[in-house]
Amino acid sequence: DKMSEVGGQDERILVSVRLRPLNTKEISKNDVSDWECINDNTLIYRNTLSERSMNPHGYTFDRVFGSDSPTKTVYDEAAKEVALSVVSGINASIFAYGQTSSGKTFTMSGITEYTVEDIYDYVQRHVERTFVLKFSAMEIYNEAVRDLLSTDHTPLRLLDDPERGTVVDRLTEETLTDLNHLKELLSFCEGNTIESSAREFMGKDNSSTLAASVDFVDLAGSERASQALSAGTRLKEGSHINRSLLTLGTVVRKLSKGRNVHVPYRDSKLTRILQSSLGGNARTAIICTISPARSHTEQSRNTLLFASCAK
Ligand code: ADP
Ligand code: MG
Repeated sequence: DKMSEVGGQDERILVSVRLRPLNTKEISKNDVSDWECINDNTLIYRNTLSERSMNPHGYTFDRVFGSDSPTKTVYDEAAKEVALSVVSGINASIFAYGQTSSGKTFTMSGITEYTVEDIYDYVQRHVERTFVLKFSAMEIYNEAVRDLLSTDHTPLRLLDDPERGTVVDRLTEETLTDLNHLKELLSFCEGNTIESSAREFMGKDNSSTLAASVDFVDLAGSERASQALSAGTRLKEGSHINRSLLTLGTVVRKLSKGRNVHVPYRDSKLTRILQSSLGGNARTAIICTISPARSHTEQSRNTLLFASCAK
């Protein structure tokens, strides 16, 4: 069947870009969209107010999605295969990267639900195996890790476990009962979230103890990274505040260069926690979300630069 083929190894990071529609606020300010998907892989920038450019700049990715693409399509074509490698015992991580208001949370919450739906579907069709699905959620803000399933907001410590690698000490792990249970947990987390979070499922096979996790990562607004990088003398302060986001960028660039390079996972909490889902026997998909508005051109270009580096 289709899902048992999912374990196929592909070391590359799958990089996609999703354009959201102009929102009512942008429309009311007469903002316009300068971005267009001309096919499944190419996005172009064309300033619609100036003379129609004969040779607009094109950006190519594994997949690009225009403002009329529903989240289900984004999931099916840019995340599903990577996410479902978890049922074959391969760790996976799915990231949303983009400026604030570009659609990261919108995209990632849909992808999380579709993934769990498909995992349940798979579990029901494989009664010969026993699965345990567990869910946990955390937020990393200013390098403090907080449990989103707990009302206790005390920062949690990271521990180095000889078998499991870096683990978050005392993080709540809920055993999922069904899809509605997940939806309840997600809405609890959303009420509890400020910035970035990672969500995780584990499928466990009782006989061979196959355990793997898929992490859903809703990153902090990418404008924070470019602000920190362009702040010059204030770089130190910026890089402290956004250490996880900046280090993720470095890690992703190194991973895209292949093996035999030093990958600085230990430089931030986020990359320490995600190490086993990013490196080694793991699959990664990044969905970069951009606003089509002319007023956001600079941030959109920064996001595409990040996306190009991850390829
Ligand atoms: P972010 O998490 O990147 O800050 P959000 O996901 O919260 O951004 O999106 C900002 C707003 O835009 C939300 O109201 C969201 O519902 C809406 N939105 C984002 N992406 C889309 C989309 N592709 N189609 C329709 N509405 C969207
Ligand atoms: Mg958000």
